[in-house]
Amino acid sequence: MLDIKIQRTETPKAKPAPGQKLGFGKIFTDHMFVMNYTEGKGWHDPRIEPFHNISLSPAAMVYHYGQEMFEGLKAYKGPDGNVYLFRPDMNAKRTNSTNDRLVIPQLPVEDFVQAVSAVVDVDRDWIPSDPGTSLYIRPFIIATDEFLGVAPSKTYLFMVILSPSGAYYESGLAPVGIWIEDEYVRAVRGGIGFAKTGGNYAASLIAQQKAHDAGYSQVLWLDGVERKYIEEVGAMNIFFKIAGKVVTPSLNGSILPGITRNSTIQLCKDWGYEVEERKISAEELLEAQKNGTLEECFGTGTAAVISPVGKLRYQDDVMTINGGNIGPLSQKLYDTITGIQTGILPDEKGWRVKVGG
Ligand SMILES: *Cc1c(COP(=O)(O)O)cnc(C)c1O
Repeated sequence: MLDIKIQRTETPKAKPAPGQKLGFGKIFTDHMFVMNYTEGKGWHDPRIEPFHNISLSPAAMVYHYGQEMFEGLKAYKGPDGNVYLFRPDMNAKRTNSTNDRLVIPQLPVEDFVQAVSAVVDVDRDWIPSDPGTSLYIRPFIIATDEFLGVAPSKTYLFMVILSPSGAYYESGLAPVGIWIEDEYVRAVRGGIGFAKTGGNYAASLIAQQKAHDAGYSQVLWLDGVERKYIEEVGAMNIFFKIAGKVVTPSLNGSILPGITRNSTIQLCKDWGYEVEERKISAEELLEAQKNGTLEECFGTGTAAVISPVGKLRYQDDVMTINGGNIGPLSQKLYDTITGIQTGILPDEKGWRVKVGG
């Protein structure tokens, strides 16, 4: 158990009004969690402080070689007034697999969950309650040694900041257009594709811009070697329903192991679908589209939960999926996962964690 010191702000900010458009990641709450790591001492001084700017040496290692990691999860206010997290232990475990890859020290799973719960509890009045809204939680770790040599840092900061966020799609689940990128790649096996770290995003911006310029909202990456097999979308994993089966790329080391992906697979199996985790080539999708068996396509991730895909562009082909409309499986997954997250549906799998008393 962490012994967390709490210093409350004396100048609380105005909270967004009900009905106000929140967007994503633009508004921050009154408090943040902070904990230091020092080699030889371990993680120490866990505390909750007023939200504030931090001061680091311009030589701090994170600015130069990108030794950092982040996580993303949400807190929801249920109709019963309780505050819930969704599978936070999974974020804690993924933190440690990211940390191992980036030579950042391990953070005990229970300490991660306690830190997140504690700061959410302090700022629980910031959790919006309009339909589709939530409190986005961003835990992250940065390397803070003042040193320009290339080596793992000996000191780190672990912080958790909170941002009230709006419904991802203001007017309901709107299918998006996705660009299958065949020039740039995001990750290769043996690299850092499975780790949740800024470097993967820095490498993705150019293709994201290219897709936007062409009128598509996100990039679907192909494998880094053959540029043939589907990997994942910008910040989402990808699923297809082909001839009645649910198909998603297997976790091959260059794909981020999404928690929404894992929950989706479990639910689909419960509902009697055959779920295949395997290689899927872009050619196979074109073929399925031509013979009418590409029934649905959707992305899975914490931000949008389920994001139906209405249009997929691959080279000179544009595939329209399910007439550009949301499919029944996508809708059912969205309703079920968000229902469990917000406390509307029973939590048969023990995925929901209540915050505070
Ligand atoms: C975070 C993330 C996802 C989705 O993971 P969830 O745990 O479902 O939110 C997928 N792909 C990438 C690259 C990500 O960073």
